[in-house]
Amino acid sequence: MQDDAATTTMIAAAIADGVTIAESQSISKLLPSLVSSAQSLACPSISNFPVAAVELGTSGHIFVGVNMEFPSLPFHHTIHAEQFLLTNMANNVETHLDSFAVSAAPCGHCRQFLQELRDAPDIQILITSHKNPHFSPLSHFLFHHFGPHDLFPKTVPLLLEPRHNALSLPQNDHFNVLAKEFEILS
Ligand SMILES: [Zn+2]
Repeated sequence: MQDDAATTTMIAAAIADGVTIAESQSISKLLPSLVSSAQSLACPSISNFPVAAVELGTSGHIFVGVNMEFPSLPFHHTIHAEQFLLTNMANNVETHLDSFAVSAAPCGHCRQFLQELRDAPDIQILITSHKNPHFSPLSHFLFHHFGPHDLFPKTVPLLLEPRHNALSLPQNDHFNVLAKEFEILS
């Protein structure tokens, strides 16, 4: 992946709006149209199978996720495009996933990963490599789903949602001392 990948995995709302208007197409058509070019950001060093997922956040920004494989590590350390996508969203404080387009059907692991989100069964997924691409809900891909609502009250925060974990910084300057020591060593 290029050094500037962090900036290319998110398209600002204003640009997304501009592209939509310029192309005179709905966002549901725009998302799948971006998947192919987003695949060029993938790092499929082992499988040579690039995957990209593209979604529109509630902020109006468009987010991209791609698969990343690491030749020096076991294959199960691969970051899947859907996982990258959700991490990208979390880093940008996007709290809800409504729909996304992806170049290949989500694997079983990712289907369960997506099930951890709010309103997961209703998340709309379009697979661009299918003969007749169209949006279908996650419940279509994951039967007899089991998720956090089977274990916890619906008020419990889920993935992407803010939560208070009761952690706080110590009152002393321990971290400042460590930071200065790190500056000296680096
Ligand atoms: Zn996956």
